[in-house]
Amino acid sequence: MKIQREFDRLTLLIVLLFSVIPVLSILTHNNLVVASSFVLAILIMIFIRKTINARLIQPILDISRKSYLISSGRLDTEIIVETNDELAELARNINLLAGSLREKIRVLEESVQREQRVVRELAILNEFIGYVSSELNFEAILNKLIEKTRDLMRAQDGVVILFQPDRTKTFLSTDELLNEQLIKDMLSVDSGGLARIIAEQKPIRNNDISFRLSNGNEIRNFIALSLNSPTELQCLLIIMNKDGGFSQDDEDSFLNFAFQAFHTISLQNEIAKLATTDGLTGLNNHRMFQDRLSEEIQRAERYKSKLFLLLIDIDHFKRFNDTYGHQTGDDVLRTMAQIIKGSIRKVDFAARYGGEEFVLILPETDCGHTFTVAERIRKAVMDYPFNLKDGTKAGLTVSIGVACFPEDSAEKEDLIRKADTALYFAKGLGRNKVCLYRDICEPEE
Ligand code: GH3
Ligand code: MG
Ligand code: MG
Repeated sequence: MKIQREFDRLTLLIVLLFSVIPVLSILTHNNLVVASSFVLAILIMIFIRKTINARLIQPILDISRKSYLISSGRLDTEIIVETNDELAELARNINLLAGSLREKIRVLEESVQREQRVVRELAILNEFIGYVSSELNFEAILNKLIEKTRDLMRAQDGVVILFQPDRTKTFLSTDELLNEQLIKDMLSVDSGGLARIIAEQKPIRNNDISFRLSNGNEIRNFIALSLNSPTELQCLLIIMNKDGGFSQDDEDSFLNFAFQAFHTISLQNEIAKLATTDGLTGLNNHRMFQDRLSEEIQRAERYKSKLFLLLIDIDHFKRFNDTYGHQTGDDVLRTMAQIIKGSIRKVDFAARYGGEEFVLILPETDCGHTFTVAERIRKAVMDYPFNLKDGTKAGLTVSIGVACFPEDSAEKEDLIRKADTALYFAKGLGRNKVCLYRDICEPEE
């Protein structure tokens, strides 16, 4: 439209110009100028008209000329086709080109989706590793594993069944959906499928179950995997109830994420163990003892209960070392740790206090039971035949001092001091004795 207007304006200008020229030539009486002016005017008009027409009509596809303009971005290509066969061939080629472009776009889209999935997986894994390195509580870490795997899978529920090195099970869950009985129910899902994956260590995915737990909750689908670490840690991770079910892509992500996350957990667990365990005996170390005693005292204060502290010291151990060597002395310390561990309940706490001294915390008990435990340990050591490398047997004894919270002391350091005083008293009585602080009289300072 704009071009058309330009044309009209030019025409008017030329008409005006060539109306003036004849008038001038008549006035000057020059016929040659009149004639040549008309010819020139006509030529200029033809030229302008052609140029403007060319700009107005730019054919993209001119069938009559069998010419095709293929436009691709900034480059235009004109293809001249002479016959109908060539036209058909061209159409076929264009179709093939379009098909292969569509395929390339699909592959690209898939790879972008895959990349996005990996980036998300890494982001969640990174978050998880950050959490693990700043958290010491193993149970909290396992709960985080469930939470993050659930996030990754966009599923509703999850559970970890942890197998201790002695193959006993610990049940954990982040929500109220599950408890020990419910997990037992679950192990029977899919005709023992879950139990099978523990043995085979393969992931299992089931999108076609409707399993109602005894508490009324429903499991619609699940994905599960058995995870092992080189440090003897083994667990079963189960993620459940995803809208639409778990896909093959979910399974791939699940495998990658869960393996790496569990590997991080087991390494962290190993480091934590090294930091809390005594290297020679495998018992808790002194630092752990101090932490645990503080916790147990707080608990006893809260529940108005008692706790007993036992200090155990090997009698004449210097002499034993001097006679049989330090190496044999170390073997004895390991055996002592086993005897002590074998004499206590699960709730009790045993540690190597230092050197040839051990310590026990017995919570939620009374004096009678404590004395029985102390005597049991003393007798077990006395009766134990410590086999020596030369085939002979050596006899060893221990002395034990006992103090009670809050009766003997309501303060941690003082409680330890009172147990030590009782131990010193047992040594004074000739060793191989159990002595309760309450039975001795410590002069008040
Ligand atoms: P008592 O009956 O009065 O307790 O006499 P004792 O010889 O046991 O006491 P003392 O404190 O004089 O000596 C403790 C000894 O324990 C000294 C050291 O040789 C030994 N001991 C401490 N730690 C270790 C250890 O890690 N390995 C070995 N083999 N011996 C240790
Ligand atoms: Mg000692
Ligand atoms: Mg000693």
